[in-house]
Amino acid sequence: RTVYVNGRFLPYEEASIPIMDRGFLFADGIYEVSAVLGGRLVDNEAHLARLDRSLGAIGIRNPHDAAGWTRLQEELIARNGLTEGGVYLQVTRGVAERDFAFPPAGVEPTVVMFTQAKTIANNPLADRGATVVSVEDLRWKRRDIKSVALLAQVLAKQQAAEAGAAEAWMHEDGFVTEGGSSTAFIITEDGRIVTRPLSTAILPGITRRAVLRLAEEAGLTIEERPFSLEEAFAAAEAFFTSASAFVMPVIEIDGRRIGGGQPGPLTRRLRGLYLEMAAA
Ligand code: PLP
Repeated sequence: RTVYVNGRFLPYEEASIPIMDRGFLFADGIYEVSAVLGGRLVDNEAHLARLDRSLGAIGIRNPHDAAGWTRLQEELIARNGLTEGGVYLQVTRGVAERDFAFPPAGVEPTVVMFTQAKTIANNPLADRGATVVSVEDLRWKRRDIKSVALLAQVLAKQQAAEAGAAEAWMHEDGFVTEGGSSTAFIITEDGRIVTRPLSTAILPGITRRAVLRLAEEAGLTIEERPFSLEEAFAAAEAFFTSASAFVMPVIEIDGRRIGGGQPGPLTRRLRGLYLEMAAA
């Protein structure tokens, strides 16, 4: 397995990061995950644009332009012979003596990349449908930044894992914010696709954006508005989206069956449209 650290491709076993890295000490960094299907990156330009925005929001210089990132990602995919899965990349504020304020000028960001093989297109869970549990959203107020500070999501997704569920849907004031690592959607009885509008309360999902575009092109009705847990329990269909799951049907939330406990027809259609787009 070959990984990338600060300008070098090297075996995973030989890769290491100094203990004073601010990513390790403060979670002072940003990450991105782009899907790989058929050996090719999916919607990667949008992921790199979000990376640039996240880095800018916390004042870390983006060490590469989009073309530079793409070259590194493609080389890593080739070196690992990856056909399906994801490329993880992380940029931290670098290595410096531990002090909360930014390090002195000249400290360079730390860049780490690795690939993970995963079955996304023919994931059997997408045929069965996933179960979800709701958990309180304990995160900070800038969830639009894709920060590596993921403790709230670690705890949320551990709760889901212990309940045998595939994802945690986080909620705040009775309304669903998003999944632990995904965007949450429901579909109403009359076929309207509902998802929370973009704000600092959620991460602007790249898969969310693509799915909304595909839904619109297919003439489906979209409502960008917050929805409550109660509304989700009563929804005709539900699903979540992410680069590592694409469109994942939800058949149960907190033990309550959604849409008869089967992946819904509109959800399956959206998954099909997304897969077509991703494979094109
Ligand atoms: N929301 C959160 C909190 C996430 O961590 C993720 C992905 O990891 C998403 C949404 C989905 O984003 P994307 O579709 O860009 O993978």
